[in-house]
Amino acid sequence: MTTPMVKAEGVHKSFGAAHILKGIDLEVAPREVFCLIGPSGSGKSTFLRCINHLEKINAGRLSVDGELVGYRQKGDKLYELKDSEVALQRRDIGMVFQRFNLFPHMTAIENVMEAPIQVKGETKAVARARAEKLLDRVGLSDKAGNYPTQLSGGQQQRVAIARALAMEPKLMLFDEPTSALDPELVGDVLDVMRGLAEDGMTMIVVTHEMGFAREVGDALVFMDDGVVVESGHPRDVLTDPQHDRTKSFLSKVL
Ligand code: ADP
Ligand code: MG
Repeated sequence: MTTPMVKAEGVHKSFGAAHILKGIDLEVAPREVFCLIGPSGSGKSTFLRCINHLEKINAGRLSVDGELVGYRQKGDKLYELKDSEVALQRRDIGMVFQRFNLFPHMTAIENVMEAPIQVKGETKAVARARAEKLLDRVGLSDKAGNYPTQLSGGQQQRVAIARALAMEPKLMLFDEPTSALDPELVGDVLDVMRGLAEDGMTMIVVTHEMGFAREVGDALVFMDDGVVVESGHPRDVLTDPQHDRTKSFLSKVL
């Protein structure tokens, strides 16, 4: 049996008295494109943030590639990882946000080179060679020297994807990567994500792009109010939803 890339078992998360994730169970297989949909406020971003150490779960178990997120287990005891160990876990996970968050004072290629130099201690030459390849992969070779303000939103988002890939992650998290883009710029970003999927990257994609989910997704989960309501193959869930809440949501977005 292969180790799941992500495994959540009874994951709970509260902010103060607000109970946001109410027992999430799911598994993401290696090389899978796993799409996560659901109404605003249902906890999708919170779940991604828990995977990427930006939030801590309150109960349950969450693991990435067989390792508990933020903890080590010895016997039946859990020990919190040290900051340096957390940093090692985080290195393997790339995240792309709705807002691209590029470093404004750096060019496109400098943005892509930054983490490998700072975090892995790579030489500039090695980081630059990889960054050139990555910018080519996202179709932006000719924009390497541009600053973020000199790029469209779609181009900035593709640089953000290249920047995440520069750390050679084994898992990529996308949190509504096209929601902030003008409609005519969405396609180029989705094409880059489709290419990544074809290359076998494991991806969790929070999206409202149902066309992408249907064509590229291997699995689809509909989440509402902190629980997984329905999951299955995207084709099945999108064309033949079983639960009223899924039907009602899809009738609004399709
Ligand atoms: P989604 O991404 O599905 O729209 P979120 O995970 O962003 O949902 O948010 C789920 C709920 O958690 C929302 O009600 C939001 O206000 C709340 N929430 C998210 N982050 C925090 C936080 N840091 N503190 C308090 N409440 C939060
Ligand atoms: Mg969100």
